[in-house]
Amino acid sequence: MVIECKHVWEHISGYLDGTLDPALLAIVQLHLEHCEICSAILDSTRNILILTADDRVFELPMGFSERLHSRLDEEIRSAAG
Ligand SMILES: [Zn+2]
Repeated sequence: MVIECKHVWEHISGYLDGTLDPALLAIVQLHLEHCEICSAILDSTRNILILTADDRVFELPMGFSERLHSRLDEEIRSAAG
C-alpha cells in the first residue's frame, strides 16, 4: 500500500508519539525511507518538539498545535520548492 505525502504529514505527530497503529506505522515508515520531503519534515518536527520540551516540561502552551501546524506548512512549502 502506498500513501501520499499529505497523508504522511497527518500522521507525523502520531508517528513521533508512537501512537500509530502498527499497520499504519509500517506504511508511514516505508514512505519516509523513500521520500526526502517527508523525512525532512519529520526531522524538523522532531527538532521543534525537542526545543519545546526543553522550554517547558511537557506543558504545551495554548496554541501550540496551531503553531506547529503553521510551522509544518512552512516546512512543507519550502521542501516542495
Ligand atoms: Zn512524502
